[in-house]
Amino acid sequence: MEMLGFLRFVLFALIAYIIYKTIRVYHALTQKSHPSPKSEQTSGLMVKDNVCNTYLPKEDAIKEIIDGKEFFFCSQECRQKYLESKK
Ligand SMILES: [Zn+2]
Repeated sequence: MEMLGFLRFVLFALIAYIIYKTIRVYHALTQKSHPSPKSEQTSGLMVKDNVCNTYLPKEDAIKEIIDGKEFFFCSQECRQKYLESKK
């Protein structure tokens, strides 16, 4: 009976140690990931508007497929200008 009690104690101590270690690792991970800037929500990919020669985020650009190629424009105005010039 005494041996069993000792084993239980060792097992309990081991589990407590593992939990303690896990919490420490978890804290270290959350601390490291915390300072990362939240501002970058976009993909960061920039595309060029060939009409007015400006770069803008892909998310904000107007996409147009002309002759199987992707073109990006900052506004409908630039898109129209490009389409007019193609004619
Ligand atoms: Zn433009």
